Amino acid sequence: MRKKIVAGNWKMNMTLADGEALVEEIMNKSPELDDNKQVIFCTPFTHLMLIDDTITELSKPNFFLGAQNCNNNTSGAYTGEISISMLEEVGVDSVIIGHSERRQYYAESNEFLKSKVDALVENDLQVIFCCGESLEIREANTQNEFVAKQLEESLFHLDAAQMLNNVVIAYEPIWAIGTGKTATTAQAQEMHSYIRSLIAIKYNNEIAQEISILYGGSCNATNAKELFACEDVDGGLIGGAALKADTFLPIIEAMF
Ligand code: PEP
Repeated sequence: MRKKIVAGNWKMNMTLADGEALVEEIMNKSPELDDNKQVIFCTPFTHLMLIDDTITELSKPNFFLGAQNCNNNTSGAYTGEISISMLEEVGVDSVIIGHSERRQYYAESNEFLKSKVDALVENDLQVIFCCGESLEIREANTQNEFVAKQLEESLFHLDAAQMLNNVVIAYEPIWAIGTGKTATTAQAQEMHSYIRSLIAIKYNNEIAQEISILYGGSCNATNAKELFACEDVDGGLIGGAALKADTFLPIIEAMF
């Protein structure tokens, strides 16, 4: 049975004190998560160590720590970058790769993202791989081809065991990120089901059925339940609504 996952992407937000208080409140008020559910806090790099301590101290099962990026090299002269072993040292379990903001502002190509995916899988971390189309592509009705190319060029070189053990996919239509314009449940389900069919063709149906596919893009306390009820939507990657307990907790509850 595939996992339901809610991951909060804090982006470049939160003081240390606010981040710690947020995690404490969420973990204290959240229902117990069984092993088929995960909540992941993807914090800025500077917050990872503190939030790892907080998660460890509160000691509730199935809450995890995530980073929002990593470098693809092991170590060396890469000023301003953070390696995967550094992330592991501070307790990171998952890393978001290919977020549209990194693709757009830092020109991260499918080929470059492939090298990050490889480095993470080699180190046995969980990859939260983001894909999704712009409004222009949606309006031209070529979103399926676009998303298929992102998956083909960055992810589908992995072997079956790597896909199964290390990969979560997040479908995030760019036109829905931070805009308040959510994909309809029909649009989300259609794309998630398409992504699952691509995995079935590339690998096999068993693997396709086991991989969690999250929806991201203005998912909030009001629409999460409906989105997560779609057959192929296995949770969410949450931006704005992950920054407050009263908006993030109902999204966690929507997994139940
Ligand atoms: C995101 O950036 O991954 C995201 C989904 O943002 P928001 O929830 O704010 O649309």
